[in-house]
Amino acid sequence: MILIDGKKEAANLREDLKKEVSHLKTKYNKVPGLTVILIGDLAPSQIYVRNKERSAKEVGLKSEVIKYPDNVEEIEILNKIDELNKDHTVSGILVQLPLPKHINKKKVIEAIIPEKDVDGFHPVNVGNLSSGYESSIPCTPLGCYLLIKKVEPNLSGKKAVIIGRSNLNGKPMTQLLLKENCTVTITHSKTKDLKGECLKGDVVVAAVGIPELVKGDWIKKDSIVIDVGINKTEKGIVGDVAFEEVSKIAKAITPVPGGVGPMTIACLLKNTIECFKRSQS
Ligand code: NAD
Repeated sequence: MILIDGKKEAANLREDLKKEVSHLKTKYNKVPGLTVILIGDLAPSQIYVRNKERSAKEVGLKSEVIKYPDNVEEIEILNKIDELNKDHTVSGILVQLPLPKHINKKKVIEAIIPEKDVDGFHPVNVGNLSSGYESSIPCTPLGCYLLIKKVEPNLSGKKAVIIGRSNLNGKPMTQLLLKENCTVTITHSKTKDLKGECLKGDVVVAAVGIPELVKGDWIKKDSIVIDVGINKTEKGIVGDVAFEEVSKIAKAITPVPGGVGPMTIACLLKNTIECFKRSQS
């Protein structure tokens, strides 16, 4: 069984990105810049943003975090995004989710120009991804994709089963695996016989948010299992996959923590660098 080490893969990716940033600095005499907008004081968001800032600096990006209190007016955020859209030193803009209730998420996502949308959430990027054009790709599914490709570079003809159809994870994951010529089944809360569907997967990606939903007898031998879930339970953080059981059956599996999570931030840095490169060409 291969334990897919997301921490190590993310560290390798950051190392490559660091070299790339240094090369870009020599070529253009400037470095890519990432600006994160953080609204409110939710503890998980504060931690994510701190990690993003630290990782961005580690690879040599220009990194900035703009903080607002929970009660900031929506218009103030939209005006700031407009300013950042026009700022040539900013390659990528990210607004940390979730937002306070009085701020319209759709409006905020669509205010960021697609060229600086490092999260890949703007409808133009979503459309480009599904049309097979160049686009920013949401960081978590991009990270999953890179991990899957490490284990199995040739995915053509494989059967992939995605559990969860969120815009953040399930849907973009589907597009990425379709592009690799997988036959993709996307399952969700209304799917009948989820176990039966999972049993057909050479690749199974679980992005649900239900602790240890996927059991050992849901997985066929020699499959690759990617666990996106992060669930707080009495026994600590667990994924959407019952790791102990599934790791006895699968060919390869990501642990939680230490699997997909570390790749997400590394892919954000990758997206920022891609946005910068596209803006220079
Ligand atoms: P979401 O709530 O937006 O979507 C969950 C999806 O699961 C939905 O499409 C729903 O139809 C499906 N679902 C719900 N119950 C189901 C069931 N019983 N059977 C089959 N499908 C079911 O969640 P999300 O934002 O995609 O996040 C999913 C999980 O991934 C969460 O645990 C979240 O914390 C985690 N996550 C991890 C990372 C990371 O970096 N590792 C990033 C984002 C989200």
